[in-house]
Amino acid sequence: MKVLGVNIFSKKNVEIDPVCRMEVDPANPPGGKHDYNDKAYYFCSPGCRVSFSKDPEKFLKSATAHPM
Ligand SMILES: [Zn+2]
Repeated sequence: MKVLGVNIFSKKNVEIDPVCRMEVDPANPPGGKHDYNDKAYYFCSPGCRVSFSKDPEKFLKSATAHPM
């Protein structure tokens, strides 16, 4: 038995836009894709992609920061 409307993100393949943290469908990213350090990043909009391409380290640093 299936229940509709729950867990819509749990099985979906999504990537997180490193600039704004939005979920982006990597099969059809609205902002396109940018490769950096052998990893592909996907964006919700071209503006986020441009921001990332200008200074990727800035966004990756904040993305991996885990304040204890
Ligand atoms: Zn974005």
